[in-house]
Amino acid sequence: METKELYSYFLQCKSIATDTRKIAPDSLFFALKGDNFDANTFAAEALSKGAKYVVIDNPAYKTGDNMLLVPDSLAALQNLARHHRRELGLPVIALTGSNGKTTTKELINAVLSKKYNTTATIGNLNNHIGVPLTLLSFTHETEIGIVEMGANHQREIAFLCSIAEPNFGYITNFGKAHLEGFGGYEGVIKGKSELYDYLKENIKTAFVNLDDPIQREKTKDMSRYTFAIDNYNCDVRIDAASANPMVTIKYNGQDIKSHLIGIYNATNISAAITIGHHFKVSDEKIKDAIEGYIPSNNRSQLLEKNSNNIILDAYNANPSSMQAAIANFLQLDTEESYKIAVLGDMFELGKESHEEHAKIVQSLVNEEGIEIYFVGKDFYNSKAQVTHMHFFESFDTFKENFSNLKPEKKTILIKGSRGMALERTLELI
Ligand code: ATP
Ligand code: MG
Repeated sequence: METKELYSYFLQCKSIATDTRKIAPDSLFFALKGDNFDANTFAAEALSKGAKYVVIDNPAYKTGDNMLLVPDSLAALQNLARHHRRELGLPVIALTGSNGKTTTKELINAVLSKKYNTTATIGNLNNHIGVPLTLLSFTHETEIGIVEMGANHQREIAFLCSIAEPNFGYITNFGKAHLEGFGGYEGVIKGKSELYDYLKENIKTAFVNLDDPIQREKTKDMSRYTFAIDNYNCDVRIDAASANPMVTIKYNGQDIKSHLIGIYNATNISAAITIGHHFKVSDEKIKDAIEGYIPSNNRSQLLEKNSNNIILDAYNANPSSMQAAIANFLQLDTEESYKIAVLGDMFELGKESHEEHAKIVQSLVNEEGIEIYFVGKDFYNSKAQVTHMHFFESFDTFKENFSNLKPEKKTILIKGSRGMALERTLELI
């Protein structure tokens, strides 16, 4: 079945489904394949649960006219998404980068939705399936689409751009994340820059943080709309940024007080201000939107427990976000006698893993007034013999030790890769 014909079926449906456990009535179900399943086998079940049509790519499962046979269900989903996006013809903003995509996406959405009907990626649905699903969630009412794009190898962003056809793009940063899949840091820069390549080839505009030398250089001969904190000749100038612990931004005579922790969020907020400014959202509404945004999902949350102030950043970690979180933590002014950091292993670093873990450990060897608990095999293998550092091979061994500590009036940073699930530390405080 051709994309055009499939589109006529899509228009009769109310939503898209890819999981038989979450089928809404009158949805269009795509039978995709995972590592351990082939959803063609669930096609009949999807119909019985309320799907209006089911897209399958194995003729053996076709039992009726409401089963739509295509050569490849995933490709059909992606082609349908592109077709829909073209039919609607709305401005689409694509976001990628190593860290801060979801936060920035949510901030941009908060700002733009003050003036426009926006549709943005839900949560973290940012891959070859999530991006098409986001595009297919746009409606005739959507005035601006905001699409998060994730990648862990080359050509992935180029491919996602070929589906989403963005008019605007922003790369949050070039950090040390997914080094394994990208082939080192140079590989990350190349892979993320595929967004710039797409925008440049299609004469579209990049939003650019001029404080970042890589962004500045990579976009110098393309259409761009720029911002910087303080020192450059740019379209949107941010006068100052501070974090103690929440980030405050000075912009155009206003103090914008966010609920976000971590000075790195100053860049994320500045990007949202810049994009709001470009789309002519008033300064007052930009301020309202940013001050009203409350983060969720373990991403840099500030909690209080048994007289301790806890910065919970256990959602994810890689060398650049780890360094950013630590730098922010060290610069915090606290009244307490010392700070505690619980740092978990950073995953997916391939052959650079040992070196990157060792670098983090070494950077903290001379820090005073901080007790550091390293959790996980990778940090354990980079052990340093310093009294303020404690190394544990597993969460269980850490737990045995840490549960006796009973900290009081401390400021505690918790950060590690998702797989470390360091939010479990909260139960020990
Ligand atoms: P994912 O790859 O999981 O989708 P993401 O890029 O969407 O991640 P967020 O979920 O917004 O990123 O933030 C994850 C973590 O990255 C934050 O908790 C914080 O530690 C760090 N971080 C956020 N913004 C930045 C930034 N601009 N620079 C460096 N680190 C950042
Ligand atoms: Mg994300």
